[in-house]
Amino acid sequence: MLPFPRLNYEAPGTLDEAARLAAEPGAKILSGGTDLLPSLKHGLFRPSVLVSTRRLEALYQQSPRQLGAGLSLRDVSRVSWVNAEYPALAAACRTVATPTIQGMATLGGNLALDTRCVYYNQPEGWRVALGGCLKCEGTICHVAPRGSGCYAAHSADTVPALWLYGAQVRVHGPGGERSIDVSAMCQSDGRVPPLAPGEIIAGVRLPARPPAVVHRKLRLRAAIDYAQLLVAVSRDDDGYRAVISAVGPRPVAVAGRNVPELVDAAHAAVQPLATHLSAVTWRKKMVRVEVSRAAAALPA
Ligand SMILES: Cc1cc2nc3c(=O)[nH]c(=O)nc-3n(C[C@H](O)[C@H](O)[C@H](O)COP(=O)(O)OP(=O)(O)OC[C@H]3O[C@@H](n4cnc5c(N)ncnc54)[C@H](O)[C@@H]3O)c2cc1C
Ligand code: SF4
Repeated sequence: MLPFPRLNYEAPGTLDEAARLAAEPGAKILSGGTDLLPSLKHGLFRPSVLVSTRRLEALYQQSPRQLGAGLSLRDVSRVSWVNAEYPALAAACRTVATPTIQGMATLGGNLALDTRCVYYNQPEGWRVALGGCLKCEGTICHVAPRGSGCYAAHSADTVPALWLYGAQVRVHGPGGERSIDVSAMCQSDGRVPPLAPGEIIAGVRLPARPPAVVHRKLRLRAAIDYAQLLVAVSRDDDGYRAVISAVGPRPVAVAGRNVPELVDAAHAAVQPLATHLSAVTWRKKMVRVEVSRAAAALPA
């Protein structure tokens, strides 16, 4: 059993107070804790203070086309207007981890989920035995030893579908509120999300008249596992679009006038990196398969 470090903990009752506390150097925001708490046990972060969102009532509200960031993925997957108008978002919530984790994990935490790597998301002793890596404690990348950057994979299940729906993320910070397009939440250098100190994801706004979107997740086991590929495909009057994630720090977006063009574009654009969980060649082949399957599942 890994010990839990001693930490300062605050649970403010207003967004302004939360933003003030979260702006302190070394502060970390805590929502469901399903990702952050294991990371703390692994010694990946040593926050000066944990700022909990659990008393921020504004984060637990929902109304048509507005979802609070504190809603659990299970709650989001059960909202009737989400199922009717944004079914790929409901489907994506249901593919995260397990039903128990979906009941604790929040939408905001999913949007802010750090990139993942088998060499990084490990207990401290494991990492240190390997000499660490560029993302933490070390000087080389074990995935791409000749590279100079980190290629840990963006792995948040809800992002590809939200991206194609054109969702906006509402962020509250010391300077007030602003909106960020979901597609701008993921940086190619692996910073997820691009928030300034003290900024808290308050909610998600979905546009009216969304395109038809289908979400698919390829994983090695039917539950608990993170994705080997996350695929969302949409169709509107201009043609088809796909967002493919879990292959690098930033999801890959492609478009095509028809399905064969989309599938070819996706296959050409996605270059999965080596992990010891699955062969690169297999994942590359599965891009074609998963994008084709998602396109075939779009409503007629
Ligand atoms: C066994 C297991 C399997 C998992 N499988 C998957 C999976 O398949 N797919 C997947 O997407 N995730 C998976 N997860 C990760 C996690 O459960 C989800 O991503 C979840 O949605 C994270 O939400 P949370 O509320 O628990 O976030 P937390 O753990 O509380 O926080 C995660 C990160 O987001 C930041 N954060 C949280 N809330 C906010 C906010 N409102 N504003 C700004 N920053 C914030 C935190 O500071 C932290 O950096 C898995 C976790 C476990 C333990
Ligand atoms: S991709 Fe490389 S630098 Fe990034 S976490 Fe993995 S091993 Fe570390």
